Amino acid sequence: TPKAEANGAKTGGEGEKTEEEDKDDKAAQSLLNKLIRSNLVNTTNQVEVLQRDPSSPLYSVKSFEELRLKPQLLQGVYAMGFNRPSKIQETALPMMLAEPPQNLIAQSQSGTGKTAAFVLAMLSHVDPENKWPQCMCVSPTYELALQTGKVIEQMGKYYPEVQLVYAIRGNKLERGTRLKDQIVIGTPGTVLDWCQKLKFIDPKKIKVFVLDEADVMIATQGHQDQSIRIQRMLPKTCQMLLFSATFEDTVWNFAKRIVPDPNIIKLKREEETLDTIKQYYVICNCKEEKFQALCNIYGAITIAQAMIFCHTRKTAGWLAGELSREGHQVALLSGEMQVEQRAAVIDRFRVGKEKVLVTTNVCARGIDVEQVSVVINFDLPVDKDGNPDNETYLHRIGRTGRFGKRGLAINMVDSKFSMNILNRIQEHFNKKIEKLDTDDLDEIE
Ligand code: ADP
Repeated sequence: TPKAEANGAKTGGEGEKTEEEDKDDKAAQSLLNKLIRSNLVNTTNQVEVLQRDPSSPLYSVKSFEELRLKPQLLQGVYAMGFNRPSKIQETALPMMLAEPPQNLIAQSQSGTGKTAAFVLAMLSHVDPENKWPQCMCVSPTYELALQTGKVIEQMGKYYPEVQLVYAIRGNKLERGTRLKDQIVIGTPGTVLDWCQKLKFIDPKKIKVFVLDEADVMIATQGHQDQSIRIQRMLPKTCQMLLFSATFEDTVWNFAKRIVPDPNIIKLKREEETLDTIKQYYVICNCKEEKFQALCNIYGAITIAQAMIFCHTRKTAGWLAGELSREGHQVALLSGEMQVEQRAAVIDRFRVGKEKVLVTTNVCARGIDVEQVSVVINFDLPVDKDGNPDNETYLHRIGRTGRFGKRGLAINMVDSKFSMNILNRIQEHFNKKIEKLDTDDLDEIE
């Protein structure tokens, strides 16, 4: 849930975050998701649609053909391996491609096809004969802008007349340049400079404006103001599109300032549940005993793949070392790693190169590694005030109802304090967490 992510940003035993760190964290999380995601996220939920004009018919498409795309674009879509529109694309695409253009605010979790949708809309609205910027997309960071750019290049593969330019710091153009590229993608500061100060772009000629990752964007106050200033330079007829993975009030208030008279599409995240999970706890006295208990568990049951959560980087590093010494193939995900490194670690774990993934809270947030059968809370999740972090607990071990396989969760308790946390988590979810005696493990499996 959005709330879990917002709260989660502050936990993990790595202290309180400044605004800048919090934004970096969100941007990094979002980038990580893009780097590791190769498929659409499954969902059984229906989209909620709020039409600007409720009396107009609502179109939804089940195939890309129905959209009457330019043949070069349809070819690009199929070359990417897309067979049919995703849940959100079914309604978002007809709205975005309608004549006259309609404005849209769309919210759905990462991996549901938002980027592909607005890229297709931008490419469709470009007139390749016109050699000036017509579509503009702003993203919160340089790296995220590059990822979107890659999608534009892939989808536009058979449409080479359409050119793309990155408005990002470091891309220095000569004074007096007038851009000929039809699509501009960049970060708000540079886009604003290019429109206003440097006049590389005539904002009055923009037909489609996309603001991506609104929730990450607003984490930086400066970005919010810059985005609004860009929006004000655009013509009234410009189509405004805004996308966000989460939707707190702050995002909503910002969205309304960017997108006048919007259609609104929301797709709820699949609910997570503990119903298919067997939950246990083990009592220990210190981290060495917790490690021993872990070894006993490994000795007793076959664990295909496990994720182990620790409170601090230090514990995670120590535990990974101990497990390697025991002969396990261990992957460690740690806060000081670059996003690309993290993505590589998760990828290796996904394909089974490593069977154990040791990680801290912060690193693992928002990662879905569906095939993991065993989750071990080496430390229980607590928030910065030392209260149980129920949302994180659920997100770590919960499964999405329809798609999730059965799972096993083991919690390590090493003090009165953590026993109290465990009890409160148990009460919160009203689901029994069974005591496990690691010297007699016949009961599990
Ligand atoms: P979001 O922007 O919501 O995070 P993306 O547009 O990046 O989602 O899509 C997530 C993943 O699913 C990407 O790997 C993308 O290539 C793929 N994808 C998007 N739309 C479709 C589709 N209609 N069919 C199959 N795969 C798709």
